[in-house]
Amino acid sequence: MLERGEVANSWRRERWDSLRLLTPNWQSRLPGLRYEGPDPDGYMTMGEVTEFIERFAKVSEAPVRTGANVTSVRRTGDGYHVTAACGEIRCRAVVIASGACNQPSVPQFKDGLPESVEQLTPFGYRDPAQLPDGGVLVVGASATGV
Ligand SMILES: Cc1cc2nc3c(=O)[nH]c(=O)nc-3n(C[C@H](O)[C@H](O)[C@H](O)COP(=O)(O)OP(=O)(O)OC[C@H]3O[C@@H](n4cnc5c(N)ncnc54)[C@H](O)[C@@H]3O)c2cc1C
Repeated sequence: MLERGEVANSWRRERWDSLRLLTPNWQSRLPGLRYEGPDPDGYMTMGEVTEFIERFAKVSEAPVRTGANVTSVRRTGDGYHVTAACGEIRCRAVVIASGACNQPSVPQFKDGLPESVEQLTPFGYRDPAQLPDGGVLVVGASATGV
């Protein structure tokens, strides 16, 4: 398993501090690991999600290589040639699990807004102290908007 950042990277680096899972604790189940704490109807903080996934990496003994950004995958005669920050790898099969939500999608009308309107995406947002005084408009819905 090649991970460009650290284990649980998206929860560590691409979420804001006050976010909690939208799904209750009892729903957090991975093969061989499930939530067994005292609050099955609670909602994990980002720190707790990170710990949960870190624990899964240990329990599953997955051979994770961190800091291994993949920059190219090429087909060869009998498999693939993968170029990553950790080196060149040959393999028979590749599973691309690079995530569905890891590039912000910003509507073009952003260019029409005055410069006085500070704009940021959930990737750059961490806490309210980052925002200038005044009203806030959230554009979009789904997990990042609501
Ligand atoms: C704001 C928000 C809230 C959410 N809340 C919930 C929730 O409450 N409950 C729930 O079940 N789901 C929730 N989700 C959805 C959940 O985050 C995803 O379903 C889940 O993370 C998908 O896991 P994944 O491993 O497929 O992708 P990711 O978690 O995105 O992992 C992909 C990994 O691939 C790595 N990667 C990407 N490109 C490369 C590369 N070139 N080389 C090496 N590594 C690379 C990334 O660093 C990342 O660690 C939420 C999503 C968002 C955005």
